[in-house]
Formats: sequence, structure tokens, C-alpha cells
Amino acid sequence: MLMESTTVGFDALNLAEPICRAVSGEKYDTPTPIQQQAIPHLLQGRDLLGCAQTGTGKTAAFALPILHRLSEKRQAPGSKGPRALILTPTRELASQISDSFRVYGKHLSLKQAVVYGGVSPKPQISALRRGVDILVATPGRLIDLYNQRCLRLDQIEIFVLDEADRMLDMGFLPDIKKIFAMTPDNRQSMMFSATLPDDILRLTKQFLNDPVKVSVNPPASTVDRIDQRVLFVDRENKGALLESVLQGDGIYRALVFSRTKHGANRIVKNLGKAKIKADSIHGNKSQAARMEALKQFRAGKVQVLVATDIASRGLDVEGITHVINYELPNEAESYVHRIGRTARAGATGVALSFCDAGEKGYLHNIERTINRLVTVVDDHPFHSASIAAKPKRGSAGGNTSGRKFSYGRNSNSSAKPGKNQNRKKYFSAKPGKKVRSRSPRSAASV
Ligand code: AMP
Repeated sequence: MLMESTTVGFDALNLAEPICRAVSGEKYDTPTPIQQQAIPHLLQGRDLLGCAQTGTGKTAAFALPILHRLSEKRQAPGSKGPRALILTPTRELASQISDSFRVYGKHLSLKQAVVYGGVSPKPQISALRRGVDILVATPGRLIDLYNQRCLRLDQIEIFVLDEADRMLDMGFLPDIKKIFAMTPDNRQSMMFSATLPDDILRLTKQFLNDPVKVSVNPPASTVDRIDQRVLFVDRENKGALLESVLQGDGIYRALVFSRTKHGANRIVKNLGKAKIKADSIHGNKSQAARMEALKQFRAGKVQVLVATDIASRGLDVEGITHVINYELPNEAESYVHRIGRTARAGATGVALSFCDAGEKGYLHNIERTINRLVTVVDDHPFHSASIAAKPKRGSAGGNTSGRKFSYGRNSNSSAKPGKNQNRKKYFSAKPGKKVRSRSPRSAASV
């Protein structure tokens, strides 16, 4: 799978032979841009600030040099504690990163463990007791285990803070600072973040030593590969619209975003009534239930996974054909993250956004951020002409009537409602279908 046009192959990176073998076993031909830029510096032991989000190949960008460095200076893992620590905001991401280390390190004898909350700590404690070289962790469980003296961090040689911006959004800053303080000063440190707001830059000053800065810019390229459409619909018709869309052709694996956990459960329940196989992942579910839902979705046994933003962060599932925003996020950045779950590693995908009367301002801000208009689909059975015609209120532009501001491209090119010939394949438009109504009150509490 080739992600971008590149000139340098993996051979040129001088990684240890067992690592190259594992990488070619994964059919990676060429390092992705973040891998090309980061790996040589990391192999030299430099600190690094990487501006990149998931989907760019950033896990291998830090995992391969970590495996290389640890295997070069082999030590028996023992009671001394891990030599590399990867801190990441969510359990799903922790387990994905751990899987990646297992794959890339399969021809090495390094040991690794993953620790996160929501599951019994006992197996995690046993794994730590047996000794690990590499530890992948979420902050809360790591601190718990540290406080219970189940692990020490004074042998850490390499520290990775992954998805730093999301960590800060989730309120992990105090935990991160505590964890940094538990590790030795002479460690090699890396920080990866999709965005670099001031608080992240402050953190880098505190914890990175003369870092190399590498940046790849996936949002634009990823966003460009995604066929983005908006469907104007009254809030009470969103459930029926979702059913109609999912019953259309070509939707093999859809990730649906709900703003809340209860909303996610309700969507799954309603889809179940329509005999559409769906499951959800969100913070109220046990870790085992989340993992099971993900497994079923990955295996194609469940067509639809309904997720909240936090639970979906960093999800890497191949072959997601559609991302559906049941509700538009109020932050444009979340929109970019959400739709990036499709179009992984160079693939293309479709993102459909259901926009009700109250969400037009969000749409406006999203369009400004991605610097393009989202194509309007107006021939679905629940199209609301009044919402389509409603002026948008954006935070930056005040009361704008329609699409007057400039998007940096000819607005006629992508925004003409109802002119796209391909749209039918995303829907089975059933004009006679009965609309199940929900009271606006209950819909508002989604
Ligand atoms: P990540 O950004 O680490 O979540 O990686 C996104 C996806 O890209 C994962 O499915 C990886 O297996 C895949 N990937 C990582 N590096 C490469 C590469 N050099 N060539 C092709 N695919 C890759």
C-alpha cells in the first residue's frame, strides 16, 4: 500500500534486518512522509515533535526506531521496569499501538505490555512482573499501577507522548506532567500531535530537548480524497434517513458518529429494529464490550459501528466505506478527524453529514476550515428545503446568507445541489417509506 509518492525505500533507513523483514511482511513498500522525515533523527537519538494525525503512518514512525534502538542494546527485561513508554489518550489507541509493536517486532525478542483502565488490572500486573521492554499505556491506569508500586519508570530510555492535543483536551495535562517527572531526564522524548496550539508548544518547551520538528499535513490531502456530502434533514427524521442511507448500495462498513453515549445506544437500538446490524463504542461501555464491538466490525460481522468522538479517536479499521455524521460536531477539527476514519492509508471514502436546522452554523465553520463546500444531496427522501435555504450563522462570519464567502475555489464546482450523478449509489431512496417520528424533545437529548 503506497501512501504518497516517495523516493526513499525502507532499506535506506538502515533499520535492523528483523524489523525490515516485518515491515515487508506487512507489504509496506515505501516509508510514509512522516516515517521518512522522523526515523533517521529518531535513530540518532534526537527528541522529536511530530505534527501528524493517525492515518499518516505515525505509529510506525516511532515504533520502528524504538524497536531498533532497544534491540541494539539488548537487556534482559526484568524487575527493572520498561525501557520505552508510549502514552496515549484512549484504550483503543493503546491497544492498536500495542498490536503494531507486536507486528513490527515479531522477529525480535523484545517484550511488551499494554495497560489501560476499564479492565481488571491483574493480568496487566502479571505482565509487568514478568518484565517488559516496551509499555503502552493510558495515563490513569499507568499512575494507578505506579502508585501501587507495580511498576517503575526510572529505566525509561524512550518516551512517546501520542495525540498530545487530544490528551490535553481530555484533561490529562496534570497526569502527563506527573508521568514525565517519574522518568529519567536523559530519556529520548517524542511528542506527536495533530495540531500545535499554544499549550502544546509550552509542553514541548518543558519536556523536549532541542527537538527536531517534522510535520505532515494530512488533513488537506485526506480531506481531498474524501467525497463529502451534506444532507439537510429535520432532526426528527434523522433516524429514518440513516436507515434509508444504510440500506443503499455500496455501504459495506459505516462508522456513524453520535454526539452522546445515549444517542449512540439509541441509534443502535433503532437500527436493530430495522434489521441492520450495528454496535456502539463509547465511554459507558466496558472495555471488553468495546473491544468485542470493534472486533465484530473489523471482521465485517457488524455493518455499522456507532461511536462518540472520544471513543473513535485513532480508530484504525481498514475498509470503512462511509463515515456518517448523524450529528455535526461543533468543532471543525473533530469533523476532519471523524471523516479521516475513512480514506485510511491512501484509500478513498465517503463522508455523509446529516445537518438539521440548528447545525447550519457548524457546517459553515467546517466549510471554512476545510476551505471547500460540501456537496449538497437534495434528492433523498427526507430532504428539508427550508433548512437548505436557511441562512447559516457561523462564528466567524455572523449571519451569512448561503455561500457568499470565498472558499478559495470556484464555489460552483462542488456545491451545486442535486447535480451529482453518483449520489444514488449511496442511497436507496425510498420515497414511499414511512417516517418514524420522534419528539423533538427526545431528539434534543440525543
Ligand atoms: P497510523 O497513522 O500509524 O495509524 O497508520 C495508518 C495505517 O497506515 C495503518 O493501517 C498502517 O498499517 C498503515 N501504514 C503505516 N505505514 C505504512 C507504510 N509505510 N506503507 C503502507 N501502509 C502503512
